[in-house]
Amino acid sequence: MAMSLAVVADIGGTKVLAAVVAADGTVLGQAILPTEAQKGPEVVIGRVIEGFRLALDKAGLGVEDVVGAGIACAGLVDVDKGVVVTSPNLLGWDRVPLRGRIEAALGLNTFLANDANAAALGEHRFGAGQGSSYLVFVTVSTGIGGGLVLGGRLYTGAWGTAGEVGHMTVEAGGPQCACGQQGCLEVLASGTAMAREARRRLEAGGTSRLLELSGGHPEAVTAELIGRAAREGDGLAREVAERAATYLGIGLGSLVNLLNPEVIVVGGGVSRMGEMLLAPARATMLSRAFPSAIQGVRLVQGSLGGMAGALGMASYVMEAVQHSR
Ligand SMILES: [Zn+2]
Repeated sequence: MAMSLAVVADIGGTKVLAAVVAADGTVLGQAILPTEAQKGPEVVIGRVIEGFRLALDKAGLGVEDVVGAGIACAGLVDVDKGVVVTSPNLLGWDRVPLRGRIEAALGLNTFLANDANAAALGEHRFGAGQGSSYLVFVTVSTGIGGGLVLGGRLYTGAWGTAGEVGHMTVEAGGPQCACGQQGCLEVLASGTAMAREARRRLEAGGTSRLLELSGGHPEAVTAELIGRAAREGDGLAREVAERAATYLGIGLGSLVNLLNPEVIVVGGGVSRMGEMLLAPARATMLSRAFPSAIQGVRLVQGSLGGMAGALGMASYVMEAVQHSR
């Protein structure tokens, strides 16, 4: 029998990535389209459908060749009802019945998942967490998301909201988070948090290579520039990265005590800093977690980059279809 195939899309803030993926994680066709979320749900739904068609075309396949479709997106997704409840990337989306729309357009069995959950599954099935049974995935980019694979299966909780590692409190009374709380991991360790901290230090008179890299505009400092400056040995950038990494380590230490994972995979754009971020995070995590729980835990960078969500979503679809048979 031919290998199962799924067509999937990962809806990001700026682009929709669509792909046809085989059961072994091979990508047979791929398409990238602008999300243009500001144009509203109808335009984005159209982009997803167009992305599916383009990816299938590139693979030389039709809808009849895949077992189903999957869509990963940020935010709160009602997996059972196939509804995107709210999404930080998709302003104005309020309980959009995305599954029904895709099924009506393409006649394919369709599944939805949160993007970080999908990426967790991707890294577990095909990436840096392959072969493990208990994995924590943390994605660090403009925000911080996460996903849990426990006993080899994606764990989403009683009603699908589990895995929000970015909103664990790591500093009581800390800075205000976008979620309304204070001192969340996200507001202290995300790329946005690093940029904010660097800006604060520069505006307070700090000297740094970041001033040059940002053309003299502290407000133009990004996590990417901080990574670059830190690699070049810049003291201020290193301190900022280390501060964020320390908070990350505090959060991870709690997760280790709570979940006893074998491997923690860090993905997202900021994870490209590699050991610059992971080494201090690891040191803090080691100093905080129970020796019995931390023993042998691997903290590693994701290996699938921007493809983690799409690959995980493909795995999700193939496994869901198999279960329903
Ligand atoms: Zn929060």
